[in-house]
Amino acid sequence: MNDTTMLIGGKLRPASDGSVLDALNPATGVRLTTIPDATPGDVDDAVAAASSAFATWRRSTPGERSALLTTLADVVAAHADELARLDADDNGSLYREMRRDVDMAVFYLRYYAGLTLQLHGDTVPSEPGTLTYSVRRPYGVVGRLIPFNHPLMFAASKIAAPLAAGNTVVIKPSEHTSLSALRLGELAADVVPPGVLNVVTGTGARSGDALVAHPDVRRLAFTGSAATGRAIQRRAAEVSIKTVTLELGGKNPLVVFPDADLDVAVAASVRGMNFTWQGQSCGSLSRVVVHRDVHDAFVEKLAATVGALRPGLPDDPDADTGAIVNAGQLEKVLSYVRLGQDEGARLCTGGDRVTEGGLADGLFVRPAVFADVDPGSRLAQEEIFGPVLAVMRPFTDADEALRIANATSLGLTASVFTRDLGTAHRFAEDLEAGYVWVNEVGRHVPGTPFGGVKDSGIGREEDLDELFSYTQLKNVHINYGHI
Ligand code: NAD
Repeated sequence: MNDTTMLIGGKLRPASDGSVLDALNPATGVRLTTIPDATPGDVDDAVAAASSAFATWRRSTPGERSALLTTLADVVAAHADELARLDADDNGSLYREMRRDVDMAVFYLRYYAGLTLQLHGDTVPSEPGTLTYSVRRPYGVVGRLIPFNHPLMFAASKIAAPLAAGNTVVIKPSEHTSLSALRLGELAADVVPPGVLNVVTGTGARSGDALVAHPDVRRLAFTGSAATGRAIQRRAAEVSIKTVTLELGGKNPLVVFPDADLDVAVAASVRGMNFTWQGQSCGSLSRVVVHRDVHDAFVEKLAATVGALRPGLPDDPDADTGAIVNAGQLEKVLSYVRLGQDEGARLCTGGDRVTEGGLADGLFVRPAVFADVDPGSRLAQEEIFGPVLAVMRPFTDADEALRIANATSLGLTASVFTRDLGTAHRFAEDLEAGYVWVNEVGRHVPGTPFGGVKDSGIGREEDLDELFSYTQLKNVHINYGHI
């Protein structure tokens, strides 16, 4: 694979000091290529280009912005297989899943392309001879930082709303999975005006920090871990007043009542844990809370189902789960498996590194289920972001289930399985999460607000509010009657 370059001010270029980072295939251990390790000076260049492009882009019509996003969607769709290939090679997830991610990205580019006319304000009744109205204005340069788990989907879909609102964007993908974002930059170079979209790569500590701390970036949107989110809030506040939205991690509960269909609930629990992405999803329902009456049967079926999942290479059509993204993340997953055992939880299946079946050179972990987990233990409290599902000790009544479900600092998603209407509504009301499913898991219905409460974040995305969040309201009061 050729050396990769960043898109800065319409030009494709390496890091100015020539530094690079290796891009490794976690499923095979093979070095794919290198990515630029951008310097703070490169980030300055990207922000300067975005600031200069903003002068024109802010005056573009809704129709022009819509047309540009539609063109970008067409370009991404035309290169869907190639982009999915890059993601599967770069982050170890199954090719078919990364291919679906590209379709989602195309969907969201089109979705926001269709919303540009919704960027209107209000008129407010006031005194005769006056007119009071509000208008929505873009911020300017938006800094967008994204994580490793859905590289192209986030790179392409998370630029849609800020561009639709008339901002220019500097996006920084994860240093572990930058290839598809860099390719997106190359493709965008032919269709996006110079500086409107810029792609810078490199580490969080260097290029990420430079973007967060840049005084000309007033609007930051971050998707990643809660710890980094807090660091970014702190860092941004040192520089100036910035609007920072945060889509962070989860330790999300799935509650099963005895009136739920057991097979359906077990299948949902497996699906909701997102083993298909090695559990590497913020929305994964990684804590299961099961009623005493069905607990043992549930755990037995769950362990058998998860135990039958087959790790495999991204192209293996029979594989159920792929490779962990990098060696650090692999060690983190394995260390939580050891910790769970040390804390007295019962390992029912998996949790070991896979070395057979041609997978020895890759970073594969057999999907794991723990039972008898103490809800206060670290295994129950901390996000692992890997294929480790923890079933809590059984509950007896709804109050107890709710207490356990809400007893973490995070609050992204939650799910409850019951046929009782009252229980369903009570949990929908009282679960401390930004997105609640009843008798469902995992689905993000497009156009609905996705985001977290508590330490899982600030702000909502994938809906109209995301578009509005890239604007600031300006109010205008005109006196035309008393002059
Ligand atoms: P991470 O926080 O390590 O990194 C995310 C991004 O931030 C990367 O681009 C990284 O380079 C950058 N970064 C790291 N430190 C930085 C710093 N000090 N300053 C500026 N930028 C910095 O997250 P990750 O390991 O890539 O992704 C996993 C995390 O993302 C999990 O916690 C997961 O739950 C979360 N996530 C949340 C959502 C959501 O929508 N809520 C979606 C996907 C992933």
